[in-house]
Amino acid sequence: NTFAEIDLGDALNMNIKRCKYVKPTPVQRHAIPISLTGRDLMACAQTGSGKTAAFCFPIISGIMKSGQSAQRQPRKPRMACPLALILSPTRELSIQIHEEARKFSYQTGVKVVVAYGGAPINQQLRELERGVDILVATPGRLVDLLERARVSLQNIRYLALDEADRMLDMGFEPQIRRIVQQMDMPPPGERQTLLFSATFPKEIQRLAADFLSNYIFLAV
Ligand code: AMP
Repeated sequence: NTFAEIDLGDALNMNIKRCKYVKPTPVQRHAIPISLTGRDLMACAQTGSGKTAAFCFPIISGIMKSGQSAQRQPRKPRMACPLALILSPTRELSIQIHEEARKFSYQTGVKVVVAYGGAPINQQLRELERGVDILVATPGRLVDLLERARVSLQNIRYLALDEADRMLDMGFEPQIRRIVQQMDMPPPGERQTLLFSATFPKEIQRLAADFLSNYIFLAV
């Protein structure tokens, strides 16, 4: 019942201590070990449940273990090729996830960048050019970046959908489908998808059926 018992790696465990997290929350206790096995996951999680860490820890840990962070990648000029994508419905939530993910990835070599709409795109483009492992984005702004050919999703190994029900309520389903389609480049089956939602209406179950493979359903 401590984070040290979960195999996340020393650097991440240090950052968890720095954040003063002692005990995993229920969703973390179940979701993190499942995610570390590489399985897809659809998890029930409300705001305040600790869901951000539940999807960030396995992603950061996985990138570190793969030794593939942006610092070691040959860079394509002007085209960011993140390994992980976290989609979130709003600018505020994206900023919050970015802040937390940055704390968790401190001194790990894993680089986190955020891109959201309703703000000038130029600074986000400059950030992306410096290299990115984990991109936190709202669906609309990401589609814009894809259209400008400033982001490629060909290297995506981890996809997290946060507050998926809210994203659908806001009408983002077409954008989300377009985004995920760009990941379905060969080889298939190499992507791990983590879907978090507070509710599970039919639309979310359909999304899970389309995007996840052989997934575990977690309700805590
Ligand atoms: P979230 O549901 O991800 O928005 O997290 C809600 C709040 O709980 C955030 O302020 C987190 O920093 C905090 N938090 C998440 N996990 C833990 C934990 N295991 N121990 C203490 N605080 C936590």
